[in-house]
Amino acid sequence: MRVQGIAYEELAERFGTPLYVYDADRLTEVIGGLRAALHPGLEVFYSLKANPNISVYATLRAGGARAEVSSLVELRTALAAGTPPEDIIFLGPGKSRRELAACLDAGVYAVVCESFAELDLIERLAAERGHRQRVLLRVNPALAISGSRLTMGGKPRQFGIDEEQVLAAGDLTVAYRHADVAGVHVYMGTRILDPEVVGKNTRYILDLAERVAEATGIRLDAVDIGGGLGVPYFDGEEELAPGAVADLINPLLDKFAGAHPETRLIMESGRYLAGRAGIYVARVEYVKESMGERFAIADGGTHHHMAAVGIGSFVKRNFPAVLLSERAAGEPEPWNVTGPLCTPNDSLLKQAPLPPLRPGDLLGVLNSGAYGPTASPGLFLSHGYPAEVLVRDGEAHLVRARDEPEDLLRPQRLISPTGPQGNDQGNNQGNDQERPS
Ligand SMILES: *Cc1c(COP(=O)(O)O)cnc(C)c1O
Repeated sequence: MRVQGIAYEELAERFGTPLYVYDADRLTEVIGGLRAALHPGLEVFYSLKANPNISVYATLRAGGARAEVSSLVELRTALAAGTPPEDIIFLGPGKSRRELAACLDAGVYAVVCESFAELDLIERLAAERGHRQRVLLRVNPALAISGSRLTMGGKPRQFGIDEEQVLAAGDLTVAYRHADVAGVHVYMGTRILDPEVVGKNTRYILDLAERVAEATGIRLDAVDIGGGLGVPYFDGEEELAPGAVADLINPLLDKFAGAHPETRLIMESGRYLAGRAGIYVARVEYVKESMGERFAIADGGTHHHMAAVGIGSFVKRNFPAVLLSERAAGEPEPWNVTGPLCTPNDSLLKQAPLPPLRPGDLLGVLNSGAYGPTASPGLFLSHGYPAEVLVRDGEAHLVRARDEPEDLLRPQRLISPTGPQGNDQGNNQGNDQERPS
């Protein structure tokens, strides 16, 4: 297995291990395939939380993705990659004042508002600036549609405003003048692999948007139908075909667009766009046996790839994994692949079929482009985050440097262990210590 003709061993030599390797061709192919299949009026917004690397995002952006961000740094990432503000939306249940101010100052297309308290704050911040800021209301739907691995809707949630409350809110165009409520957002869940579920969600959301507009008097500048398209990780899971999704939702979108030609239609996607374009590469350090089971202890583990522990299930299921070393390999046998952390949970693979392993072997965990480092406890045991490499046009580029020991030590402050009267001698890092704030 190679990436654009480059052997993983070559990348491991050049950039060290563990590392993430992303394939730009794959990113481009996936965003292109999705956009080609879906209704031309549907804009795909990339959820940066799935993989916030600026070069990964820029590659998707070049393929036509826009940006859905949920933190100040994600917003800055999208802007630094050259995204026009009208192609950025900001969402999240706990936006800070600083984040909202940054949205207003950047002039993002919309803030997706998750509570009435937040709406009041947006109103105040926009009024202070003499701005109007477009807001999409995130609605917590009254109904849950099953088939997503993590269901939203039909449950008490910190996300969005309950459908009943939105419908009962009265005329929002009177109540808010600077917060320009002009659209609806619903996100029904993640890891959806059944096109029927996307179809049902979309039907529900488009209908809900019309009901909200009617009840609250708002314009529908935009309707965001969420997304949550999945990637198969485990045995028995199948790829979600964009064509099958399109067959179900394009007619719905077409009808809606006919009735609301001015409305921007938005779909969000993180995992589907980035997931299959990445592979986590680690090197086997030791092999041993314990009570009849084979263990390969690798230099990388779940501090970089928490998802590999198992997503939303109590029984460990393995991500697909392969031996990347280019050598003659024997018959597969069950292997436990663990990392360097001092916890039994640091298990990348459990009883996974792999050829006989030996120290120095390179292993790859596939489908690892989404929710890798960003969703992993990289500081555990102070290992820090791994290098990230993007391969584009047959060339490998370092797109995030590995954390070095200095990077992890630098933000820490050593205070005198004996208090202000204590003897501070021997602590010569004093310059940085008192930082008036
Ligand atoms: C996490 C999230 C996404 C992205 O989800 P994926 O399953 O990665 O596509 C999109 N929208 C919202 C509101 C989210 O919280």
